[in-house]
Amino acid sequence: MIYKLADKLAETGNLTDSEFLSILDCREPEFSGYIAEKARAVREKFYGKDVYLRGLIEFTNICKNNCKYCGIRCGNKNAERYRLTEEEIFECSDTGYGLGFRTFVLQGGEDPYFTDERMISIVRGLKERHPDCAVTLSIGEREKESYQKLFDAGADRYLLRHETADKAHYETLHPKEMSFEHRIQCLKNLKEIGFQVGAGMMIGSPGQTTKNLVEDLRFLQELKPEMVGIGPFIPHHDTEFADCASGSVEMTLRLLSVIRLILPEVLLPATTALGTLDPQGREKGILAGANVVMPNLSPSGVRKKYLLYDNKICTGDEAAECIRCMSKRVAGTGYQVVHSRGDHIRFAPKTQYTFVSKMDRIILT
Ligand code: SAH
Repeated sequence: MIYKLADKLAETGNLTDSEFLSILDCREPEFSGYIAEKARAVREKFYGKDVYLRGLIEFTNICKNNCKYCGIRCGNKNAERYRLTEEEIFECSDTGYGLGFRTFVLQGGEDPYFTDERMISIVRGLKERHPDCAVTLSIGEREKESYQKLFDAGADRYLLRHETADKAHYETLHPKEMSFEHRIQCLKNLKEIGFQVGAGMMIGSPGQTTKNLVEDLRFLQELKPEMVGIGPFIPHHDTEFADCASGSVEMTLRLLSVIRLILPEVLLPATTALGTLDPQGREKGILAGANVVMPNLSPSGVRKKYLLYDNKICTGDEAAECIRCMSKRVAGTGYQVVHSRGDHIRFAPKTQYTFVSKMDRIILT
């Protein structure tokens, strides 16, 4: 019965709420392999065996928000704060370029120092130095005019996880100054402006139910983001959720497969949080349908300070080491890291993907 549901999901890209619940609640170990296989077939149809690289530059851990789960929330007086200079950001990108990265993701807390003016200068600078690269921003909620200016400056993509599609649940994870409606409006604005947009949620965040996850799936079906970032919740010792349990690797993998099947062309990272909870987590993520990895390009001196959750991996390595390790890990799964921009199929320049048959293609870039 449950296998039939996976077949139906693979064929139609959709299920009823109660069918989604059954798929998420199913604990049969063989079922994970079954649905992962369906997800891999779909990802290979669109993206072959390729895994795209994103160079993550964590450029500030200063944040004006106080999200209850996050280690760099403003209320955490123990966090050692830093922000990179524009020059340091450019240097990270130059190192990354030399290592084969063609996407740079600038992620940070909501740091008021990074005004539109300063962000525009950074985006333009990155584009001038590396015109063949995509720039992704992940700097939280801003007004539509601000997003528009960043887009006009050349930013290509924007990651803003919705965190949870359930308003009541959202309000238990965030302080009352933050608004569920505003976060969702931001995502809609980003879409309207023309960014390739990434939404997403933590898996197993405190108070989350399987029903909430079905709401997340419905939200993703409606928004149709180009990217979906999901990873297990992991407690941070200096937050009020310090004693909460981590999310489950199994549930995260199940959701990667389900998301691949409802949004076949989506760009789906195997996240650092997944690799933090399970040494083989990112490999398992790729085998469950993910097709993106995001090695860290931040200068090694600041990595330990961008601590969203405890025990985060890859905080000691140099960028070159990270990419070597990641390429080896990906190769071990039978997939391969490629050095292209890795745009969503709808945004890809015509030369990026040339389909020679339904299941087979040549990469020209
Ligand atoms: N300020 C930006 C970037 C946030 S950090 C923004 O608001 O979008 C990126 C993501 O890390 C968050 O969206 C959240 O989903 C995730 N994250 C934060 N704390 C976490 C934790 N304790 N465990 C797992 N993921 C966490």
